Amino acid sequence: NSQTEMLRRKLEISIRGNNVQEPILSFGSCNLPQKLLQNLEAAGYEMPTPVQMQTIPSALAGQSMLVSAETGSGKTCSFLVPIVSYCAKLKHNLQKPLAMVLTPTRELCIQVEEQAKLLGKGLPFKTALVVGGDAMAGQVYRIQQGVSMIVGTPGRLIDLLIKHDFELDTISIFVLDEVDCMIERGFREQVMQIFQALSQPQVLMYSATVSKEVERVASSMVKDLTVISVGRPNK
Ligand code: ADP
Ligand code: MG
Repeated sequence: NSQTEMLRRKLEISIRGNNVQEPILSFGSCNLPQKLLQNLEAAGYEMPTPVQMQTIPSALAGQSMLVSAETGSGKTCSFLVPIVSYCAKLKHNLQKPLAMVLTPTRELCIQVEEQAKLLGKGLPFKTALVVGGDAMAGQVYRIQQGVSMIVGTPGRLIDLLIKHDFELDTISIFVLDEVDCMIERGFREQVMQIFQALSQPQVLMYSATVSKEVERVASSMVKDLTVISVGRPNK
């Protein structure tokens, strides 16, 4: 409706795709677990940022999408809030991972995991980091103990998946953070290989820039891709 359109214009949100949820104006308005709301508040997140306003309800509704918004706009929480919420609501299923997040670097993976721990505090939510620089055995052991979310770099994840025959069919949410950067660094093949090992997950892709190349990769994974741009993505 026109009110939604006005709000989107004000938030500088543009959308290509159908049936996209209305933006939320507060974290409290999308049925998140109470504990997650408390964790958001404790983190000092009083209000969602524009990218979170639009993409959290869409991600919660199961939509796959490519989102571009500038660095610092709050993209990490845009995918972590839906993931933590999803995992917390399926609390019986802590044995197998439900979400997988790929980022281009070890440092970014560590940052994402830190945020995830903050948001998932006190909830049935456990993470595993799969990056280079640490012994693989420890990472394997942790996953075998049961985790909700795996965060890793494409290279190390492929190593791990080839050497250990993990069952990945429980992964329902697949996130590519800084997907533009991953493609620039030549991870495209590895990302596709990991994607093909999954069973039709929801795919959430985040980028600081808008590019045809990124859109091509995204479209190869998702039929009728929804493309959301917020603010003025980096050049
Ligand atoms: P991006 O991935 O888009 O570059 P980040 O997710 O790293 O951005 O977020 C940038 C900063 O904003 C981080 O320090 C994060 O803690 C903070 N932040 C994210 N969401 C909110 C919010 N809703 N309210 C206040 N600060 C936030
Ligand atoms: Mg980011």
